[in-house]
Amino acid sequence: MAEHMLKFITLPQQTPKKRAATERRADFAEIYDDFEPKAAEEQASRCSQCGIPFCSVNCPLGNNIPDWLKLTAEGRLEEAYELSAATNTFPEICGRICPQDRLCEGNCVIEKGFESVTIGAVERYITDTAFEEGWVKPIHPVRERHQSIGIIGAGPAGLAAAEWLRSQGYQVTVYDRHDRVGGLLIYGIPGFKLEKEIVLRRWKWLEDGGVKFVLNADIGGKIPFADLRNAHDAVLVATGVYKSRELGGPGAGLPGIVRALDYLITSNRKGLGDAVPDYDSGLYDAAGKNVVVIGGGDTAMDCVRTAVRQGAKSVTCLYRRDRQNMPGSLREVSNAEDEGVTFTWLSAPEAFLGDDKVTGVRAIKMHLGLPDASGRQSVEQIEGSSFTVQADLVIKALGFDPEDLPAAFNEPELKLTHWGTLKTHPRTFETALPGVFAAGDIVRGASLVVWAIRDGRDAAAAIHHQLSHAAQAAAAE
Ligand code: FAD
Ligand code: SF4
Ligand code: SF4
Repeated sequence: MAEHMLKFITLPQQTPKKRAATERRADFAEIYDDFEPKAAEEQASRCSQCGIPFCSVNCPLGNNIPDWLKLTAEGRLEEAYELSAATNTFPEICGRICPQDRLCEGNCVIEKGFESVTIGAVERYITDTAFEEGWVKPIHPVRERHQSIGIIGAGPAGLAAAEWLRSQGYQVTVYDRHDRVGGLLIYGIPGFKLEKEIVLRRWKWLEDGGVKFVLNADIGGKIPFADLRNAHDAVLVATGVYKSRELGGPGAGLPGIVRALDYLITSNRKGLGDAVPDYDSGLYDAAGKNVVVIGGGDTAMDCVRTAVRQGAKSVTCLYRRDRQNMPGSLREVSNAEDEGVTFTWLSAPEAFLGDDKVTGVRAIKMHLGLPDASGRQSVEQIEGSSFTVQADLVIKALGFDPEDLPAAFNEPELKLTHWGTLKTHPRTFETALPGVFAAGDIVRGASLVVWAIRDGRDAAAAIHHQLSHAAQAAAAE
């Protein structure tokens, strides 16, 4: 092993080349170039092959990171791919958009004296190469099963479950109200973090493996939820969370104040070549405008960086806490700063100015007080500290809550948690309705892609467990 590994002492950390901020401001392409094969092997060889790999412990999928790093360092890339794909349905996606600084890389033990192994970039490189080399084969179940599963939601949770169940031979149909597969991967997360071809490639791969998709299918709207329960042996709800948190205060209803997801969806659709009247009318186009984004999470970061690329005159992010206490990835904040975004920390909106459309935001400075019951510091206004920021477009990015699914699905028996997410059994993933399971953000609340994949895989295994036992019991009768 020593010949190939433990190079962190002599070899500095190197990430794939990041395009210059001036260049990346002009397009929606990903900001990192691909690893060159030699660089990927070298960077993988920096791993010290820990006996207890804290990187894996802190990866929600428990990825076998040291082993696939070692195989990469040895040039055994096809084996590295097999190993990586065994625990992660979409390694090339996680390699691009996981907040590695908080997960695997942030817990890499060599990080203390040296910079961490670039785990995400190597993970991405392994599977991108596997696609190029034709090692990624369509799903091919050993045997077909007659039972069918209906999955509502083609986001990462639904897709990960679809892959797992199809591999076991189930007949899988995924329903989504959108016209494309991917959920937030396709219409939420912008191309500069995750190019759309990467998502479209996985859509085709799932179809080639026998997963059926029914798109433009609003379950609970055009198609009653009860129809799916009648049509399938089990139903998995993986609908995500989409109800935007709203802002109050004077002027909050003025034209020119828009929701983050509406803004990102129109931008992503434009990039995919769709006709987008709302964008063409100027409502969601930041070009030439002073843009203010309110919020401090990943969604807010994606909005500020989208506005920069659309040619905004200025982009300001208002967040009521400070840099250390924001929920978004710090890596994305520094990318945004490099691209020209101004962050106004410890500031919250008080009122929106303008007569027939928004022209500015009046904000007030905040300071962090004592921790509340959750341990998070409270925020308090500083009297007399109001200030005004010019704005022609205000984007609200304050987070998302779940929709009222018992009402939408006309199933009052579906039980909810205190937060409005679906209540499921922690091991079986089953909801209060027999045969109806749930996974992803609709259970966990707004979270991460890697957790959605984990939940989708676990829920699929639980469905398999229940259906295979039911089949055995029926055969024994
Ligand atoms: P979703 O991805 O939301 O998919 C749910 C699907 O269900 C959607 O396609 C929706 O159309 C469909 N659906 C909903 N209701 C119905 C219905 N009634 N009938 C039919 N279909 C329905 N996470 C990261 O790890 N890294 C990031 O960089 C990151 N950036 C993000 C940026 C933004 C702007 C947002 C909003 C989120 C981001 N996240 C990020 C979080 C991540 O995208 C989510 O945690 C993840 O997508 C959740 O997966 P899911 O499958 O549960 O739901
Ligand atoms: Fe790290 Fe995410 Fe990959 Fe896990 S899935 S190894 S957390 S990048
Ligand atoms: Fe390698 Fe870092 Fe994981 Fe240790 S924690 S096995 S050094 S990647």
